[in-house]
This record gives sequence, structure tokens and C-alpha cells, in this order.
Amino acid sequence: MSKISVAIAGAGISGLCLAHSLLRAGFDVQIYERDPAPHARRQGYRITLDEHGIAGLQRCLPPHLFQLFLATTSPTAEIGYMRITNQNLGEVFRFAFQGDPSGTDLRTPRQADRQTLRTIMLEGLRDRVHYGKAAVRAETTSDGATLHFSDGSRVHASLVVGADGVNSALRQSFLPDCEPEDTDRWAIYGRTLLFQNGRSIVPRPLKTSGVFAIGPSSRGFFFTTMNFRESPQTAFPRFGMDQIPPITDDYVMWALLLPKEQFPEPQGKPRSEMLQQLALKAAQDFHPVLRRFVEQSDLDYTMAVTIKAAKKPAAWPVSRLAFMGDAVHVMPPTGSHGGNTALRDAALLAEKLKTAAIEGTPLEKAVASYQEEMSKYAFREVEASKTMLKRFTIKNPLMNWVMLRAIPRIRSWSNKSLTAE
Ligand SMILES: Cc1cc2nc3c(=O)[nH]c(=O)nc-3n(C[C@H](O)[C@H](O)[C@H](O)COP(=O)(O)OP(=O)(O)OC[C@H]3O[C@@H](n4cnc5c(N)ncnc54)[C@H](O)[C@@H]3O)c2cc1C
Repeated sequence: MSKISVAIAGAGISGLCLAHSLLRAGFDVQIYERDPAPHARRQGYRITLDEHGIAGLQRCLPPHLFQLFLATTSPTAEIGYMRITNQNLGEVFRFAFQGDPSGTDLRTPRQADRQTLRTIMLEGLRDRVHYGKAAVRAETTSDGATLHFSDGSRVHASLVVGADGVNSALRQSFLPDCEPEDTDRWAIYGRTLLFQNGRSIVPRPLKTSGVFAIGPSSRGFFFTTMNFRESPQTAFPRFGMDQIPPITDDYVMWALLLPKEQFPEPQGKPRSEMLQQLALKAAQDFHPVLRRFVEQSDLDYTMAVTIKAAKKPAAWPVSRLAFMGDAVHVMPPTGSHGGNTALRDAALLAEKLKTAAIEGTPLEKAVASYQEEMSKYAFREVEASKTMLKRFTIKNPLMNWVMLRAIPRIRSWSNKSLTAE
């Protein structure tokens, strides 16, 4: 196969996943990342990976890195739940996920720490990832595309891939009508060590649950536990990793979902202290177990994001520039599909490009076929996540009363309390 060069903008989860797959197939791949260094900023929250995300990783990563990823995910032995509750943790309804004691059924969703996953995916790419390179635009030509950077430099490759996340500079220049819509909601999120003074801060009945507590004034409180099946501290050396694991302790990841009017647009980058204060205030009406997560959280890891939802491009010119992940189909985190869809894109695009290389067919055709397939599943997920966000932040007072007061009361007659030890 003649060497096809691919320049990827963004060393996030989809960009790195694609890079591994193409490198293994003999492509010449370079990745350009805006951050000045691999761990220049906290990216620390856990991410639920489903069958699509796990399959994407399995198809792209070298086998030993995929095994390391599995070793550092949460255990799957017990049945898992996604519980929707009122602000006092009174259950409204729940979805159950079958447990898999063998841990081998890759359709079973599991939690991964995003920073650990990214560190695993950086392994073996040291000479390929170029830091401090902020892509600003790309120009396509008949034999490839030129990627331009904010420092005035540029590179030419057979194909450029925009995997530069929600505020993608490449999308803004190439698909100017596709600026994601603002959902008018913010999320403040953080992490809290699971064990404090030798005791778990999560009540036993909620150990294997993700919980979304619907609160007053369209506020929501989400949390889940990141339990490492094997501590990254032992797993990394066992798999011969060059790098030090970024995180070693189990933690609770929490997120407060707030309407924008309750979270005034910060001037500049909001500081962690300010975010934690806001989170404490917003958590006031929630169950003490939830409030404690915020009170005892790791200040350094408190962050905020605006919740955005992508607009489907009306006309999508086919060229030597392809997009993956949040750059083209960002979606609200309700539903946990953004990262999974991004990894699915990486595996699909890699397969289309590998087939084109083997068959000697034009890369544009591979990109067109990828775009067609990807836009069907990805925008379906965008719509589903938007619907779920609306449902979880109900404004109709009657629906609110039924969901948050009547149903939990009926359930409490038959159920054990969710916080009982
Ligand atoms: C609180 C929260 C919880 C979430 N939970 C889940 C979950 O449970 N499950 C799930 O599937 N998804 C989840 N998501 C969504 C998921 O994290 C994203 O969808 C996923 O990270 C997208 O991957 P990506 O590769 O497209 O972009 P990213 O992983 O964001 O990577 C983009 C990369 O591009 C770099 N970059 C940015 N601009 C430039 C530029 N101009 N030039 C070069 N590089 C640039 C960035 O620094 C970054 O490294 C969650 C999101 C949030 C905020």
C-alpha cells in the first residue's frame, strides 16, 4: 500500500483512536493538539462506555492497550442501574443493566476514567502528537488538504481530519452554518474521593448506580462511582506502559445541571473556587448525600461546560476533510453517547480509509460513505440526548408533581430507602 498521509486536528479520544487504527494499517499519521502538553489541563471525569464505544476501541487500539483499558474500567459483575430520582433520592424509575461476572461480554456498559483512557491512548504516539498546535482552518485540494495553525505554520496531507472537539475551528471555517445550538444549560462537574476516613461516601444500595436527581427550578444532580477493576498503579506497569497513571484512587463523579439564568456567564475562565461555591448553592435543596459530594470534592477538578447540541449540516461538501466526534455532532451528556459516538466514528472512518487504500479507490469516496453512515447514527443520538435533557428538566408543574412527588411516594410504600446502609 502506498503511504497515505493523514493529519488529525485534536488529540482527544476520537483523534487518538483513529490514529492507532491507521498507524497499524501503515498510514503516515500525525496528530496536532492545541494544548501545550499531554496533561496541561484536567480532563478528569469518568465516562460510561457502551457497546459502540468499546467496539470502537477494540477495533482501533493495539490489543495490549485494549486489554489495559478493560483492566482499568469498573467491574461489571453486579447488576448496574441508572436511577431517576427526586431531589431527596426518592426513586421515580430505573433502568437495569445486566451484570457480567466474567467481564468478557463487551456489550456490557462500563465506566472508564477519561484521563486514564486518554493516557492509555497516548501510548506509542509520543513522536506523532505535536502539542501547542492550534488548527485554525483547512484548505482542500484535489490531492489532499492543507491544515493551517495559529502560529502561521501549515502541513499538507492526503487527508485532514477535524477531531478538535465542540468548539472546532475547522468546523467553523468549513461548515459555518453548523454552529451548535446553545441549550441554555450549564453543567458544573467535579470529583470526590470515594473513600473518606476509610468509609465509602456512596450508600451501599447506590454502589453500582448512576443517579440523576431531578431538582427544583429545572436543576438536576447526577452522580456515579468510578471504581477501578484494577488500580492503574498496578495495571500500567503490568502492561509495560511508559507513562505514569494520572489517577489511582476510586472516586465519585458528580455534575449539577443548571439553567443559564442561574449561572451568570463568567467573565473569562471561571475559577474552581467560584464554581464550587456555585455548585454548593445549587446543591442546597438536594439530599445530604448529594450535598456531601460537593462539600468534600477535589477543588482542582471542579469545572464547567455549556451544554450544546449540534445542528445537522444541510449540505455537506465531500472533500479531503472529514470530521469526527464533538467537532461535528456534540450532544448533551444526558444519555452518555457523545464519547461513544466519537469512538464509533473513529472505527468507521478508519475502516473506510483502509478499504480505499487496499482497493485503490478515491479517498473522497471513503469520506462520503463515512459521512453518510455517521450522520444517520450520530444525529439520531443528538436528538435522543436533547429529548432526554428536556425530560429531566421538566417545567410543566403537573408533570413535575406526578414525577417528583406522587411516584416516589407510591414507590416508598414498597421499596427500601435508596440511602439505607
Ligand atoms: C461532564 C461530561 C460527562 C460526559 N460523560 C460522557 C459519558 O458518560 N459517555 C459518553 O459517551 N460521553 C460523555 N461525555 C461526552 C464526551 O466526553 C465527548 O463526546 C468526547 O470527549 C468527544 O470526543 P472528541 O474526540 O470528539 O473530542 P475531545 O475528546 O473533546 O477532544 C478534542 C481535542 O481537540 C483539542 N483541540 C481543540 N481545539 C483544537 C484546535 N483548534 N486545534 C487542535 N486541537 C484542538 C482539544 O484540546 C482536545 O484534546 C461527557 C461530557 C461531559 C462534559
